[in-house]
Order: sequence, then C-alpha cells, then structure tokens
Amino acid sequence: MHKISKIAVLTSGGDAPGMNPCIRAVVRTALYNGLEVVGVRQGYKGLIDNDMYDMQSRSVSNILNLGGTILKTARCLPFKEDEGMALAYKNLKEHGVDAMVVIGGDGTFTGALRFSRKYPDIAVIGVPGTIDNDLCGSTYTLGFDTATNTVIEAIDKIRDTADAHDRLFFIEVMGRDSGAIALRAGISCGAEAILLPEKQTALEDLIKNLKDGKSNKKSSSIVIVAEGDKNGGVYDVAKAVQKEISDYDIKVTILGHLQRGGSPSSFDRILGSRLGFAAVNALIAGETQKMVGLQANHILLTSLEEALNQHEFKLEADLLQMVDVLSI
Ligand code: ADP
Repeated sequence: MHKISKIAVLTSGGDAPGMNPCIRAVVRTALYNGLEVVGVRQGYKGLIDNDMYDMQSRSVSNILNLGGTILKTARCLPFKEDEGMALAYKNLKEHGVDAMVVIGGDGTFTGALRFSRKYPDIAVIGVPGTIDNDLCGSTYTLGFDTATNTVIEAIDKIRDTADAHDRLFFIEVMGRDSGAIALRAGISCGAEAILLPEKQTALEDLIKNLKDGKSNKKSSSIVIVAEGDKNGGVYDVAKAVQKEISDYDIKVTILGHLQRGGSPSSFDRILGSRLGFAAVNALIAGETQKMVGLQANHILLTSLEEALNQHEFKLEADLLQMVDVLSI
C-alpha cells in the first residue's frame, strides 16, 4: 500500500461556499494523523508557479464562516498541457508531496484524473466543490445549498415587488449546463415556470402557461431561467413573451455573481467538514483517483471517472413533474 506523509490541498475552478470548512477539515485531519500539509494557492496555477506554503492548525482558524476560499482559486490553461503537468509534478516532488486533495468541479476532476494517470506516485482524492451540483456520486456538492439559499432570498424579495405591481419577472440564475439551482429555487419560491438546460421548454407552452395564470387571477409571476436554457437567454425569452402578453409589465433580473458568495450554510459547513475529513482518511487508507461524496447521508467513494460521467447525471424526474403540478 502507498503510505503517504505529506498532502497538498488546493481549490480550483469556480469557487463555492463550503470550500473553507473543507480546507480546515483536510488540514486538521492530516495533522491529527501525523501528516504534513501544504496549501497550494490558486489551484493548478499554484502547482505550476510553485506557490505553496506549509499549513498548521492555526492556518485554518476562524474560516468556517467565510465564503470563497482562503487558498484562492483560478482557471489554469497551462495545466492542460504536458509541460504544465510536468512542472506541477516537479514542484510537488520538491516539496515532498505524495498525496493531493483537490476541491473543485468537473474541470478540476478531469485535470486531477489526467495528472494522476501520468504520475500515479502522487495519490489524488477529489472533493466535489461546485455550486452546480452536477457530479455523479454525490447527491449534493459543496456550495450548492448556500447558493440556492442565496437565490431563494433574492427571489423572495423580487416576489414582493412583483406582487405589489402585478408584474411578471424573468430571473436568470447560474447554471450553464446544470439546472439544479434553478429547479430547487423554483420549487422553493413557487416560480410559475422554470427554464432549464436539461429540458427544452417551448415558448408557446410558456406563454400559454402565463396567460392561464393571469386569467386564473395570479397577481404576479416569476419565471426562472437558468443561464444554459436553450431559448436564447433571459432577455430574448422576455421579449418573445412580451410580444404575446402585452398587458403584463415585464421585468428582467440577472442575479449574477452574488450567487457564488456568502457565508456557507450549516449544511455546507458540515458537508465540507465531512468531505475533507473523509478525503484525508481515504488517502491514509491508500485510495487514489476517487471522489468522496454524499450518498443517502453516508460519505462514500466513487472513482473520478464515474463522477465525471455526465451521461449518467440527471435532474430528479419527480421534482420536474412536481413543478408543473404545484404552480397551477
Ligand atoms: P470546475 O472545476 O469548477 O469545473 P474548470 O472547468 O474551470 O472549473 O476547471 C478548473 C481547472 O481544471 C482548469 O482551469 C484547468 O486548470 C483544469 N482542467 C480542466 N480541464 C482539464 C483537462 N482536460 N486537463 C487538465 N486540466 C484540466
């Protein structure tokens, strides 16, 4: 069995609330087990730039409540090239690192898997850290709960003003390939319609639905549009609907980057702590090329390859069906 002594931890790709509780858990679980830890700044960029520092228990004091990531994150194209990976490997070896915990989304895992296949003497465990909730092998990813709660809070406020003025609001939420935030937020806020990347919604159906709502005495309507919806974006959808429903006062709001920030929810603090703890224990047990994830309230391992299998990933059919029923 591959016995480890020094773990590098990094956050990569899009930031997600809950990354800090996870970093804290990785550092303290490693130290508790007599291992050394180095923090890598700015994800794979820090590996290539040799931007790493030794972490102690106090390096992660008072960060449970912080959004973002104390290690910073970045997107790093050179890591996709052989030379970039070779430099990252050389720097890790110079620091005496023999294991890594990478916290990020599907891009981060793709990089981790390629790197680990090239350099198998450095064990790698992934932690699903993305607000998109789009990885197989974890019912929830780190940051998704906080981001969804942020969206809900914003939409509740919009609903107040929409109702006061009898308005129809189109609200764009994050999710280029994943409608997970849109779906959960839509159910939580009683959206009249939710447009998702995973499911084509015909504009005629949307218009009929909104007209029915108006004749059914709805005083306001909220339509949530995920970034990746295939109808051309929130402004195009709003314009097309306005043409057909001229008596509705239509407004558009794009929630944007506020969805990424904020103090992690209780759920994300606990999930981050559990996943960080489990990631280090998996490395100690000799595991590599795996992801730690939450399944039926247990932390289980899935191969990185399987976690990346997007064809297997689907939004819950019962939730999709329920949306239409509960919004009449
Ligand atoms: P996320 O992890 O949130 O999905 P990205 O897709 O931006 O974010 O990926 C984060 C980083 O992972 C990229 O900037 C790059 O350094 C690395 N990465 C992504 N795809 C690959 C790949 N095919 N090979 C190597 N590294 C990759």
